[in-house]
Amino acid sequence: MEEQLRARIDAVEARVQATCRRAGRDRSEVGIIAVTKYVSLETTGQAIRLGLKHIGENRWQDVQPKWEAFAEEATWHFIGHLQTNKVKDVVGKFAYIHSLDRLSLAKEIEKKAVALGITVPCFIQLNISGEETKYGMPAEQLFEFARQIAALPHLRVEGLMTMAPYEAEPEATRPVFRELREWRDRLNGEAIFAYEVGGLSMGMSNDFEVAIEEGATWVRLGSVLVGKE
Ligand SMILES: *Cc1c(COP(=O)(O)O)cnc(C)c1O
Repeated sequence: MEEQLRARIDAVEARVQATCRRAGRDRSEVGIIAVTKYVSLETTGQAIRLGLKHIGENRWQDVQPKWEAFAEEATWHFIGHLQTNKVKDVVGKFAYIHSLDRLSLAKEIEKKAVALGITVPCFIQLNISGEETKYGMPAEQLFEFARQIAALPHLRVEGLMTMAPYEAEPEATRPVFRELREWRDRLNGEAIFAYEVGGLSMGMSNDFEVAIEEGATWVRLGSVLVGKE
């Protein structure tokens, strides 16, 4: 079991390094989030012991036992659709929220952050592909939304996030990732925030190499990295 997991992690690391080399990027610019939603608490613990220190999950109900077991041993990323009534469970435990996609959610996060006296780094999730099944806001609304977020001092926009549609040929996802990078650059051009927005959370098991070539700073890897049980 553990040997298999180690082999998977090594194989992904080799692919990430090769892609960085090819793209002229430094390996340190790309973080790997291990998405453990398909695997058990036990496997999650093994993954952390094998060096995967960033864990991503998308439902609080599912991740709760894992978080309680390994809270201090990893950095936690909330990557799934976040219901407003779950904000109280998630904020303060997850270091990053990758799925900020509406003002009501932003206001709820702000409220909880104020109560805890913390700042919450978030990624604004854009639906670039326009697929109806995907969460995320239409890219055209980004600047207006960003101006509203800028008025919430306990939120920090760490970057943009998107999910590309599944493509049999990963190369076909490139325009989605490229567009996300262009929106990030335009957002910085608007100078809405007093800081540079650098992050791009993009790329999953099927398409992470293309995402890295297009500038991903975080790839979110489930099946290719920790498997599926
Ligand atoms: C499940 C999930 C992933 C990981 O999916 P894989 O294809 O198994 O790598 C990444 N991002 C989000 C938002 C997810 O829900």
